[in-house]
Amino acid sequence: MIQRLFDVIIIGAGIVGAALARELSAYAMRVAVLDKAAEIPSGASRANSAMIHAGYDDKPGTQKARFCPSGNRRFHELQGPLDFTLRECGSYVCAFEEDEIRHLDALLDQGKRNGVPGMEIISGDTLRDREPHASREIRAALWAPSGAIVNNFEAVLAFMDNAQQNGVELFLETQVTGLLCSEEKQEVFGVETTKGRFLAPVVINAAGVHAGEISRMAGEESVRIRPTRGEYFITDKTVGHLVKGFFFACPSAKGKGITVASTAEHNLLIGPTSTPQTDLEDTSTTMKGLEEVLDGARKLVPDIPSGAVITSFAGVRANTLSGDFNIAVLRKPRGFVNVAGIKSPGFTSAPAIALHVVEMLREELADRVIMTPNPHFVPERTHIPRFAELSMEEREALVRRDPRFAQIVCRCETVTEAQVVEAIRRGARTVAAVKIWTRAGAGRCQGGFCGPRVADILARELGIPLEEVTRHGGHSRLLVGRTKEYWFRGNE
Ligand SMILES: Cc1cc2nc3c(=O)[nH]c(=O)nc-3n(C[C@H](O)[C@H](O)[C@H](O)COP(=O)(O)OP(=O)(O)OC[C@H]3O[C@@H](n4cnc5c(N)ncnc54)[C@H](O)[C@@H]3O)c2cc1C
Repeated sequence: MIQRLFDVIIIGAGIVGAALARELSAYAMRVAVLDKAAEIPSGASRANSAMIHAGYDDKPGTQKARFCPSGNRRFHELQGPLDFTLRECGSYVCAFEEDEIRHLDALLDQGKRNGVPGMEIISGDTLRDREPHASREIRAALWAPSGAIVNNFEAVLAFMDNAQQNGVELFLETQVTGLLCSEEKQEVFGVETTKGRFLAPVVINAAGVHAGEISRMAGEESVRIRPTRGEYFITDKTVGHLVKGFFFACPSAKGKGITVASTAEHNLLIGPTSTPQTDLEDTSTTMKGLEEVLDGARKLVPDIPSGAVITSFAGVRANTLSGDFNIAVLRKPRGFVNVAGIKSPGFTSAPAIALHVVEMLREELADRVIMTPNPHFVPERTHIPRFAELSMEEREALVRRDPRFAQIVCRCETVTEAQVVEAIRRGARTVAAVKIWTRAGAGRCQGGFCGPRVADILARELGIPLEEVTRHGGHSRLLVGRTKEYWFRGNE
């Protein structure tokens, strides 16, 4: 039985686990991040609206209201040093009816109490001066300039990449199956996984929709996840210009409702639906969902054409009964920390939650973990060059440095062989991971052209047969055998 020894184990490499790993890497300690998926991000951090919320939605006094505005500030602070894409587009909550206009006043007041800067209510005409494609039916809107859109894939990778540069170890395809505790669950001393035992005096549960299961392993029953699925549709970049800011309808009991936004790469993102379900992993999309999303989105921006939709995805929200985040050091087993129920605005809040958890370890678990500064901590990192965004001069300089920058692998997104190779060097092991790192396969043809080329490069760089390349780990192999198998066998 393999046993590995660490100071802190983080279960889950979503935005919460990644941001926490990055903050802990500033200390001289051994940190392991375990995730059951073959690539990151995989859970809710992979499939969401990618909005860095301003922070007016949540009731003052809640953990959400506390961490959302500070998380927003932290995202803005870290965007440069960690080199991920963040567009300061601002957000609009749009009101069509009189009672919705009154609701904008309430949101404005709430936002001020939560410390959100620069908010104002603008008329429908002012909105349309700025955003000509906004519906003529919109009578007023709440403008929040600090709302931003982020590339959520890049952000998670950036936090984790920097953490790894600073010594954190990431173990993918490593599912936590049990907690190792002393008798009567007095103290935690590690976890049981599909890849053996990992030992540490501190275990942090950042397992997203699975946080309830992990919490129950510790004997803490209060975390009960009630998943709801949100379906999204992405259009190609030809209609990305329809909006500049992030559009919300007035929130309802079901949440923030259907939104319309131009993504960090200028596709149009429309969604999400809100469908309660029992399955924590069901991320299917449906025709009904597409219709609901298009109807809702066209209420805000009528010109969205259905033919521009190029793909769909769904994320599962980690709703809890309390509706708030559940962040706590348990008294028993000692050393176990829950960072659970992290639903929206969890992505925004994650960097602030991470700083808070570090403080909790320092104050409440000082007997279990020593927090001295990491003398080798490097606070910044750089992303793989984004070839598509560079000038001709910059491209030429890259090609002179490495001729593989002249080999276009993905035509829709202008991704080069050099980028794919660099993604593999930084840890990508699957076709999906290469897409997350580089956007190869994220364009109009959805990998029809580049899929086989990416697989080929993965096989070559990893030194494995092409048949062993997977889409996203496990049994998801791309190839099942050779064509003309009979002919090959006959000639052996
Ligand atoms: C539809 C939707 C829209 C949203 N929109 C926004 C938004 O616009 N802005 C915003 O701020 N927030 C938004 N959110 C919320 C945000 O996405 C989440 O709060 C955030 O991503 C949660 O991050 P996490 O790290 O806690 O969980 P996750 O990202 O789900 O990560 C959990 C990780 O734990 C791993 N894991 C689970 N069980 C185990 C196990 N047993 N062993 C090992 N690993 C395990 C999973 O593989 C996963 O990688 C949205 C969420 C959804 C679903």
